[in-house]
Amino acid sequence: MESREAHERIYSGIAASPGIAHGKVFLASRNEVAVPRYTIVKSAIASETARLDDAIVKTRRDIQSIQEEIRSSIGEDEARIFDAHLLVLEDQALVGEALRDMESSLCNIESAVWDVGHRYIEAFDRIDDEYLRERASDIRDVMRRLLSNLTGQRIPQLDEIAEPSILVANDVTPSDSASIDREKVLGLVTEVGSKTSHAVIVARSMNIPAVVGVAEVCSQVSREAVVLIDGYDGKVIVNPSEDTLFKYGNLRDKRRSREKRLIAYSKAASLTRDGHPVQLMANIERADEAERALEMGADGIGLFRSEYLFMGLGSLPSEEEQFEAYRAAVVAMGDRPVVIRTLDLGGDKVADFAEMPVYREANPFLGYRAIRFCLDHQAIFKSQLRAILRASAFGDARLMYPMISGASELNQANALLDEAKSELRSEGQAFNEDISVGTMIEIPSAAIAADTLVEGSAFFSIGTNDLIQYLIAVDRLNDRVADLYDPTHPAVLRTLDMIVSAARKGGVGVSLCGEVAGDPVIAPLLIGLGVEALSMSPNLLPNVKYVVQNMDLSEAKEIAAMALEEPSGAIIHDRLVDLYKARMDQLQ
Ligand code: PEP
Ligand code: MG
Repeated sequence: MESREAHERIYSGIAASPGIAHGKVFLASRNEVAVPRYTIVKSAIASETARLDDAIVKTRRDIQSIQEEIRSSIGEDEARIFDAHLLVLEDQALVGEALRDMESSLCNIESAVWDVGHRYIEAFDRIDDEYLRERASDIRDVMRRLLSNLTGQRIPQLDEIAEPSILVANDVTPSDSASIDREKVLGLVTEVGSKTSHAVIVARSMNIPAVVGVAEVCSQVSREAVVLIDGYDGKVIVNPSEDTLFKYGNLRDKRRSREKRLIAYSKAASLTRDGHPVQLMANIERADEAERALEMGADGIGLFRSEYLFMGLGSLPSEEEQFEAYRAAVVAMGDRPVVIRTLDLGGDKVADFAEMPVYREANPFLGYRAIRFCLDHQAIFKSQLRAILRASAFGDARLMYPMISGASELNQANALLDEAKSELRSEGQAFNEDISVGTMIEIPSAAIAADTLVEGSAFFSIGTNDLIQYLIAVDRLNDRVADLYDPTHPAVLRTLDMIVSAARKGGVGVSLCGEVAGDPVIAPLLIGLGVEALSMSPNLLPNVKYVVQNMDLSEAKEIAAMALEEPSGAIIHDRLVDLYKARMDQLQ
């Protein structure tokens, strides 16, 4: 246990979700189990061997019960993955070597198991064969279970968080994050991830301060330690001193009072100083977030990430369940638009229903994702299209397709939409015949050939989270390359310019719903480039709205023209920061 008197330590990471949080740590580390090391007397060899036998029996039972669960919820093929784990456990070479090590060096059995396991893992890791390297991860997994049974240590689960805490974890998946209890998780710290990882996007919409990419933080904090996290500046402070708490207490008060003032301004219209309208919309993951979007002054929902309805259920949501969720969002928003994005599973978002295979892809972000999965599973896709269409009878529901790479996918999707419409028509169900259909532009091929997507789209919605990742070849989840993820890179700006030109020529609207839309420093540049609507996490909206209300469109156009000529993304960013600061200084 770490006492409050222990000295303060500061770790840096990526500021992923704004805010300051302070509390006790809940450590959900998947790191190796802490393995005790001690010498044993010769007469203890028999009891150590018996302990190993017991732990093997328990581990076999654990693996079999997981396998059973996977077999009934997902399928036989996926359950078979665990056969490999059972084989590792039964491997006499591995177990025999551990026993021999224990006997020859008179060490406790868990340290012998650890040493032998790691020798095997390292050997497999070095082999230049992907299949055999995969065996290293099977051994790692089995070792972790076996050692946790030997030492009696458990790997904590997120639903065990009993009191409000700061969650510190190696990683949080989007489905983990969707089950986070806002009352229990005051803040989030992870070792991996970046501003555009989906788990972080969820934390932001739940208003949970987060710092990610804090290398090895799990091994640096102990359970029960007290930490303070600064989600504005990307700092994690373990054992904060009284002085630090005081300083951050003041900072939190100042930020809160600024946020209150911004929210007050956000009730007014989204107009630039020279009277040009810019639609400022909200991104949501669940229908009940629509209310918060309205509180923050949203002109509509620009992105409803419908895949969150499909995660954590263990089965597919029915058309009826989907319809209820879409209708709830549409009704909550009154006559404002609600853009429902069709299913975007894959990448870092995995669901656990039988039709979505859980095989490992070498490059999941280039793989079986979003529209690719939907066009291959037309019944699932059509039931979603029907649900969205039915919700369109209750307000301004719109839909858009994610990860379109070219016109053929768009045409196939629209053909299925037509089928869904004619089914509903013949069933006499109400829907908006002229529902507005958009295409997400988030793959470079779609950006370059945007003119070929005009036919069949009423609007484009630029998904910069993916577009930037694919343009700069920078994994959006990888903190080690997060520095390269530059929205002001000349290639990004030229691509945005190209998309806007194609949209204008083709007479379709153009909005942007990636995370940069909510960056008040960058928003003027996007508007200057001709983006007509920005959609962002609701909490970020008041600040962006304030910036819009205090700038002229002409000024934004000048910035965009300058940026398109400037080769250095860093210089563009610095200029935008100066402008932003000048604007914020005027905030009353
Ligand atoms: C995007 O890619 O910018 C986007 C908005 O979609 P997502 O973050 O869900 O991939
Ligand atoms: Mg995307």
